Amino acid sequence: SSRVETHEFQAESRQLLRLVVHSIYSNKDIFLRELISNASDALDKLRLESLRDSELGADTSDLHISLEPDAEARTLTVRDNGIGMSRDEVRGLIGTIAKSGTAEFARKLKEANENKDAAASADLIGSFGVGFYSSFMVADKVTLVTRRAGEQQGTRWESTGEGTYELETLDDAPQGTSVTLHLKPEDTEDSLFDYADRGRLRQIVRRHSDFIPWPVRTAVERTETEDDAADDGTGEGEAEGAADAYETLNSMKALWARSQGDVSEEEYKEFYRHVSHDWMDPLETVHTRAEGTFEYQAVLFIPSHAPLDLYQQGGRRGVHLYVRRVFIMDDCTSLLPDYLRFVKGVVDAQDLSLNVSREALQQDRQIQLMHRRLVKKILSTVKSLRTKDPERYRTFWQEFGPAVKEGLLSDQDNRETLLDLASFASTHDPKEQTGLRDYKSRMKDGQEHIYFLTGESRTRLENSPHIEAFQAKGYEVLLLTDAVDEVWVEQIREFDGTPLQSIAKGQVDLDGDADAEGDEAERAEEQRRDEEFAPLLEWLGGTLGEDVKEVRLSSRLTTSPACIVGDAHDVTPNLEKMYRAMGQ
Ligand code: ADP
Ligand code: MG
Repeated sequence: SSRVETHEFQAESRQLLRLVVHSIYSNKDIFLRELISNASDALDKLRLESLRDSELGADTSDLHISLEPDAEARTLTVRDNGIGMSRDEVRGLIGTIAKSGTAEFARKLKEANENKDAAASADLIGSFGVGFYSSFMVADKVTLVTRRAGEQQGTRWESTGEGTYELETLDDAPQGTSVTLHLKPEDTEDSLFDYADRGRLRQIVRRHSDFIPWPVRTAVERTETEDDAADDGTGEGEAEGAADAYETLNSMKALWARSQGDVSEEEYKEFYRHVSHDWMDPLETVHTRAEGTFEYQAVLFIPSHAPLDLYQQGGRRGVHLYVRRVFIMDDCTSLLPDYLRFVKGVVDAQDLSLNVSREALQQDRQIQLMHRRLVKKILSTVKSLRTKDPERYRTFWQEFGPAVKEGLLSDQDNRETLLDLASFASTHDPKEQTGLRDYKSRMKDGQEHIYFLTGESRTRLENSPHIEAFQAKGYEVLLLTDAVDEVWVEQIREFDGTPLQSIAKGQVDLDGDADAEGDEAERAEEQRRDEEFAPLLEWLGGTLGEDVKEVRLSSRLTTSPACIVGDAHDVTPNLEKMYRAMGQ
């Protein structure tokens, strides 16, 4: 009909889809987890929106997800009666991958596929998470029909995953979304890959989506024996012989409400994947609760890798907030400080209003209290990781260290803990980083400062002329290479009673007598040199112009011809770059 339009996928999506379609990724089951996860989000959003907007007029009495396998037609439909999508949303959300790093990911995946490197391919897909597009691992055509709550018309989206998709406006569509997968023939031969088989679906749902807080149902066929229908273990929803008899496949238990000993490692991992949209395992899990005046339950995760947008504005941030099991928002930034923005998870608060706004949250005393407790809990988890599992601590610090160090500036309350947590490169060891406490334990007799040098890279710092004299004396120097280092060293002048001292700024008193008067001959020599080099200095000063304050002769160098020194209170080059990046 004339209402069917054909659109091209945005270039990056097209490339990604082609790779997913031809991917050698072996764990194809996870497509179902992704679709159920999207459906669950859509149900959360509908419940919330209808709480807030009484005019919405959506029926929320039986929110659920249904799986509709059709063995004859070789299709599987995943349906929800959630919020649905408008036509524009379908175009924007499904036709586009608005994820930073997509191009880079696609390039690497292509390489892995070309090299027939299944492990690398799995790692890549796992760390990127292709969401809805994972349908194309098992389907050669996908049809999505959706209608947004509150809207009259619906939309049909259809694609074979090969460059274009069709869009059609429908006058008649149920509210919510259905995704129909036309299963690939190759997946039908082996019963292991038979996604039109109910037993198989049950198995996958229990494994990957058990905690989803909405019922995931399949219709019970009348021809099936009672035994078969009864072994679902939930005992729910079976009305024998009735046309709408169904089986609920998941237990729906809110994972955070269960006690820690009751939740298996695998369940935590699956839950993490659901809340984080990350396909990898988390590095660390924190399950905590508080009872009494401020009651809450929280399951928080530290990911095993930093998201690509960790240092960009507008990235996905924060944890999911629930109030008495009702989903409130999926990126609540008031519960954790910005420097812990990589932490994922769920916080369920007992005594907040369901209508609480983002603005009100920031002022809420209960939220502030939870905030304080959660930060302490996370930091103490990392602290114990440092002693109990150095390997994992190292991963943590490598991935998130620069973000955590921002807390040295913004979080006065936890400054000491953060200093204790931090690790830095140092001249002590060419590879391993060191903590400040370890540095202190190695200080030489008579050494009164913790010395450091800031700059762009470790290699550069190691070759820096500033360091020569210190190495000669056997003093350890911390090599600080993150932009944020420039800032905190300015504000935190000491650690545990020992002052921090930059070796590149102002006067460095190495021998304790640097200011003493030299002898007569030395001063005469200095004067001779001053005169000899005056024309050079003048020429350099003229050439460098505005870029420098002054060009002067130095005696702090041993082998290098020149070095750039800052005044004691100057903004360093690295910092300047950071300010510029932040648009200041
Ligand atoms: P992600 O879930 O990580 O955002 P997906 O590729 O899985 O990525 O989905 C992209 C977007 O499409 C979702 O964020 C959501 O806005 C929309 N979407 C997908 N499935 C549904 C659904 N069943 N109902 C409503 N919106 C959906
Ligand atoms: Mg998704």
